[in-house]
Amino acid sequence: MSDAYVGGIEAGGTKFVCAVGTGPDDVRAEARFPTTTPDETIGRALAFFREQEARFGPPAAIGIGSFGPLDPNSDSPTFGSITSTPKPHWANADVVGPIRRALGVPVGFDTDVNVAGLGEWRWGAGRGYGTILYLTIGTGVGGGVLVDGRPLHGLLHPEMGHIPLPHDWAADPYKGHCPFHGDCLEGMAAGPAIGERWGRPAVELPPEHPAWELEAHYLARALQGFICTLSPERIILGGGVMEQPQLFPLVRAKVREYLNGYVQSPAILDAIDSYIVPPGLGNRAGVLGAIAQAQMMVA
Ligand code: ADP
Ligand code: ZN
Repeated sequence: MSDAYVGGIEAGGTKFVCAVGTGPDDVRAEARFPTTTPDETIGRALAFFREQEARFGPPAAIGIGSFGPLDPNSDSPTFGSITSTPKPHWANADVVGPIRRALGVPVGFDTDVNVAGLGEWRWGAGRGYGTILYLTIGTGVGGGVLVDGRPLHGLLHPEMGHIPLPHDWAADPYKGHCPFHGDCLEGMAAGPAIGERWGRPAVELPPEHPAWELEAHYLARALQGFICTLSPERIILGGGVMEQPQLFPLVRAKVREYLNGYVQSPAILDAIDSYIVPPGLGNRAGVLGAIAQAQMMVA
């Protein structure tokens, strides 16, 4: 794969992170700013890339990992756009078009989680594995799947946060916060759901709070499904909620309990501590993944 000098954008619903460089050890400049309107936010990204172009020359390509839903299919007329987001100003916003026109270089576009997964596959915890799953548990829940370094798109792109989960209403009467499905995985397990269920922001709940046992239960149920459908060789769990380190052992134990010995792999039976892991790139997976994605367009 190329080591070209490129640009990357982690386009989040709250903030954009832009960087230029060739990889984790050579990020030459980085900027972050809040996500406001498409015009203003993309304008700031362009200003950043123009400034870097004056210093380092033109990048070979720009990669973008974006919040969604979005159109990542380069043959589609709406390629490069965010599609049906409820986020004000961003429904049907064309992200790739203005950047390609302004900078005149190839621009890649995929989901934030596919791109973060790509970064992890190239430089982080997914290195050397064929099929990996990258799941983020933050403001929402999303999953990216990499097969031999290629992000899975299929019809559009996976929407792994919106799978249904068993819901024991007596044990957990919380109705869920997904505007589309109520008690889907995201509706039950994203950071805002934890806050709403317990009446306190997730970040303020102490490590011994029962919230984390319940959170681990939902995440492990979801992983049971993802392991059985995708057969990932490694699972990387990122996002703000996973900053709670006590979640990892709870999730691992429940995944084993729910699989109940059925999936006969040493990764699960003997070495689950190195099967379900935090991102190797930490919170830089997104922006470094965008750099990796841009390099994929050059190779
Ligand atoms: P985003 O999903 O917007 O890209 P994050 O992955 O940082 O951003 O997720 C932010 C959400 O994660 C917050 O809304 C909050 O609910 C939750 N969160 C952030 N930090 C923590 C923490 N240390 N412990 C538990 N939950 C957290
Ligand atoms: Zn949903």
